[in-house]
Amino acid sequence: MKRFQAQPGFVVQAFRFALDPNAAQEQALRSHCGAARAAYNWAVGWVEASWWQRKAEATYGVPEADLTEWRPWSLPALRKEFNQVKHTDPRFAGWWEDNSKEAYSTGLVNAAAAFDNYAKSKQGKRRGKKAGMPRFKPKRKARLSCRFTTGTIRVETGGRHVTLPRLGRIRVHEPTIKLLHRVQAGTARILSATVRHERGRWFVSFQTETARGLVRVTRPEAAVGIDLGIKTLAVLADSAGEIREIPNPRHLGTALNKLCRASRTVSRRRGPDRRTGQKPSRRWEKANAARNKVHHRVANLRADALHKLTTAVTAEYGTVVVEDLNVAGMLRNRRLARRIADAGFGEIRRQLTYKTKRNGCRIIAADRWFPSSKTCSGCGAVKAKLPLHVRTYECDACGLVIDRDDNAARNLAALAAAVTTGTGVAGDQDTAKVSKPRGADRKTRTTRPRRNTGTGRAGGATLPHQRQTETGDRTQAEALTL
Ligand SMILES: [Zn+2]
Repeated sequence: MKRFQAQPGFVVQAFRFALDPNAAQEQALRSHCGAARAAYNWAVGWVEASWWQRKAEATYGVPEADLTEWRPWSLPALRKEFNQVKHTDPRFAGWWEDNSKEAYSTGLVNAAAAFDNYAKSKQGKRRGKKAGMPRFKPKRKARLSCRFTTGTIRVETGGRHVTLPRLGRIRVHEPTIKLLHRVQAGTARILSATVRHERGRWFVSFQTETARGLVRVTRPEAAVGIDLGIKTLAVLADSAGEIREIPNPRHLGTALNKLCRASRTVSRRRGPDRRTGQKPSRRWEKANAARNKVHHRVANLRADALHKLTTAVTAEYGTVVVEDLNVAGMLRNRRLARRIADAGFGEIRRQLTYKTKRNGCRIIAADRWFPSSKTCSGCGAVKAKLPLHVRTYECDACGLVIDRDDNAARNLAALAAAVTTGTGVAGDQDTAKVSKPRGADRKTRTTRPRRNTGTGRAGGATLPHQRQTETGDRTQAEALTL
């Protein structure tokens, strides 16, 4: 789909607020999100019915030209068909008028996008993981979400309510003053609103076109290298030589005991069973809600800490250097996955990327094979091997002794300086053209699964089989571009 392009001097930014709907509004919110899901499922079923029909006809020996026609999945086509069907189809006939048309539109837009993604992925025009055929969204699992693009969408002047089409005035849990002031001053325009049920709460997210003046970074000429890890979440080394450590809050790790107990309670009560159609008991529902609450708290704490970290970094430095970690690959390591997911490496990178862009600073991703840990930050010598359990870097060439993570962060910061002077290597696949003996410029390759990676630094902990799949991906991607 075509993306909205903001006018010069403006950016597209979301403002998100937690809602406090009353019982009737909550009911209406659920109804709208359910309607979006129903429309999505209708679209998937309608388009794919022609696929199955063609397949069946082909097995009867019907010639290609006489097969049932493909049904189109473009948004206008889906909308046109749906507007006819909703009056007659018993799935919609009795109740479709209860909800805003935007609810059905949400479902159809999403279905059209899903079919597009599938088609593009099949033709090799889409990056990333292969997208499968669009599937039905099950009632119990689907995320409740609905987007409004037209109608009355506004933030009320009191700063405590928002108004959405059909849903009316809904109280907001937190003040909307940030957005309200901008709208009143004419520096923000609301484009759309999305309601969403997440972590046991309803949220509204306003997509806006917002004027954004230049943000003054406190130290525009300084660069910082960020080395992410599990022992310490992040080690920041800046070009002035200062090193800061951000401890890993390990929110999930802390809550694990509580979670364990809550889960045990849940499993001792009579839960739902799909095979027998057994409904969960009230006590199970209560216990399940208590367990979810623990999860929600962990997620909230994590989001808060990560935002504070990335905001502070991007408000201070002109250049941020991060490692291009293969987070998806690291999550496949069952010994490290939980801790890595708890730390939120991928999210840190995502936030740094958009926040640096917003503040007009640079972000540099060091090449995935840049030997940040194995290089001496003093003299530049590269070690051939540096196992994960070695936490202190000792240089054989110049005798420097430094903490492993500090050393890596310093190397990343130095990379920024190298890039500015034009001798840089960042993001370049041919990073080290000067070849070192025995592939010493590469990260350590483990030949057998390691037992002691539990508390290790995450960067180097890809197992051989993961690396194989990774190179496999790469050749596949190359093949697709041919
Ligand atoms: Zn050295």
